[in-house]
Amino acid sequence: MDDVGERLGRVIPLPAPPLSVLDIEAIITGWKHRLGLEGWEISVAWDEPLEQEDSLAEVVPLSVYDYAKLRLSPAWPTWDRRWANLTILHELIHLLTRDYGCAIGAAEPMFSPTAWTIFESRCDHEEEQLVDRLATLFFGHLGAI
Ligand SMILES: [Zn+2]
Repeated sequence: MDDVGERLGRVIPLPAPPLSVLDIEAIITGWKHRLGLEGWEISVAWDEPLEQEDSLAEVVPLSVYDYAKLRLSPAWPTWDRRWANLTILHELIHLLTRDYGCAIGAAEPMFSPTAWTIFESRCDHEEEQLVDRLATLFFGHLGAI
């Protein structure tokens, strides 16, 4: 608490300290547990650039089942705890849709290249909408880690 704020009879919260690597790892572990992903091995590729530079984060399921790599924007140390939770939660929910995505991908040979591009883009968009809504819902009910 701020001394000046106390002397004036007001509570003036101090800004939260920046997040650390340990904070990020705790957030990942906490949401893995909440989402039932304890069996997943999720490593953070701290030094790898994002495939899409304007993304906040990316999760990449690996060829070995239940293994994934998470990449974060280099701006992650500036995130507040709420934003870090929502961003990481969003990426981990993508892991829950892995098999659904594989099923969609299996249909590619049935499409012409143009039709596949349109269909896949639509599926990606709808998955993002679903994942975003679920992340907001889970965060709203369960709170930050
Ligand atoms: Zn997403």
